[in-house]
Amino acid sequence: MAKERFEKPTGTQDVLPGAVEKWHVVEAKARDLCRRFNYREIRTPMFEHTELFERGVGETTDIVEGEMYTFKDKGDRDLALRPEGTAGVVRAYVQNKLYGEPDVSKLYYIGPMFRYERPQAGRYRQFHQFGIEAFGAVDPAIDAEVISLGYQFYKDLGLKEVRVELNSVGNAPSRAAYREKLLAFLRPMHDTLCKDCQRRMERNPLRVLDCKVDQDKFGDAPSILDSLDEECSMHFAKVKSHLDAMGVEYSINPRLVRGLDYYTHTAFEYKAAGIGTIDTVGGGGRYNGLVEEIGGPDQPGIGFGIGLERILLILENQGVELETVKPLDVYLVALGEAADLEITKQLFILRSQGISAERDYLGRKMKAQMKSADRLSARYTAILGEDELLDGVITVKTMATGEQRTIKLEELAQALAE
Ligand code: ATP
Ligand code: MG
Repeated sequence: MAKERFEKPTGTQDVLPGAVEKWHVVEAKARDLCRRFNYREIRTPMFEHTELFERGVGETTDIVEGEMYTFKDKGDRDLALRPEGTAGVVRAYVQNKLYGEPDVSKLYYIGPMFRYERPQAGRYRQFHQFGIEAFGAVDPAIDAEVISLGYQFYKDLGLKEVRVELNSVGNAPSRAAYREKLLAFLRPMHDTLCKDCQRRMERNPLRVLDCKVDQDKFGDAPSILDSLDEECSMHFAKVKSHLDAMGVEYSINPRLVRGLDYYTHTAFEYKAAGIGTIDTVGGGGRYNGLVEEIGGPDQPGIGFGIGLERILLILENQGVELETVKPLDVYLVALGEAADLEITKQLFILRSQGISAERDYLGRKMKAQMKSADRLSARYTAILGEDELLDGVITVKTMATGEQRTIKLEELAQALAE
């Protein structure tokens, strides 16, 4: 076979009919959940000024250090395909002065993100995230709400054994204190660590804990929880109480620091086994300095980003079926040329009245058309012959039972709707 002339770029996917229905279900669940939790959708551009991400994501993250799709446009501007959702949402929040609204701004997004990564199962160059952000409140109740929304999302989808891991990365003074303790622990093992960790050590030692290569070496690392000051400990304790009040289960992971630089206080991840060595399906945290960093007022924020491809992969591995099939309502079959025209008319009437309807366009014999109706899982077939046309009726067959009845043409839509 000849090689295809064009192939999709590495790390991207075609979502074909048959698979796209699962996406619809996942997206619909996310939207419905956000409605119930009172989060409203925000749509921001898929590319932004590169600098936004360098500021917003943190200059020393994996993303900024090597995963970003950057380009210059014809006006010589430095732009980047968004690698994550938060920076763009914060930019929009600031630019549109949403902070001027009296209530907490509770926003969500669903859309593609782009990172130049080595593709493998669960890791792509274009992938999708469902994310939420809540701005303007420091109340630990909102931290717990954000965590619970993600938790309920997995539950609603039927994902099994999702674990919530929780930590506090404190405020700046707590982190500075921890940084010293951590460095004292890390320095002696400097030469045994991977190149990335060696580099991270001086610039942002907390991120060493996030390393995928050296994970196992940090079992005895000091816990950040021991470095939290009064304010941080209090906040953390209250987040836990609110989670307990909802019955959201979690475990404390003092080594959870997350890849992004901007987190303060609450940091959390959702974990589920099922895609090779990858077990993180989503994560988030509080980012009290980020809005200001991006040029807005000093407003706190908290949010999460959840990868949708990973959810679908794990659901498949766990054998969880999403309820997707919404079969065709009716397949119309015409026998003869006059009936053919009437079928065109009826098809349009049905479709305009909300009924999903299909017909043959390949000049196939009745038997082949019935097979087609089967393949489409049509609930009904409606057959119009010349005689019926003269009488102004049509034969409707219920596919599940084989039962047939004759219905007046003008009553077809109503009969099928019932
Ligand atoms: P990882 O540690 O797997 O690289 P990350 O820390 O880079 O993840 P985040 O930036 O926190 O991930 O993004 C949140 C979620 O987005 C991840 O938990 C994952 O589900 C999804 N995600 C991130 N990068 C990719 C990718 N390249 N392909 C598919 N999904 C991704
Ligand atoms: Mg990553």
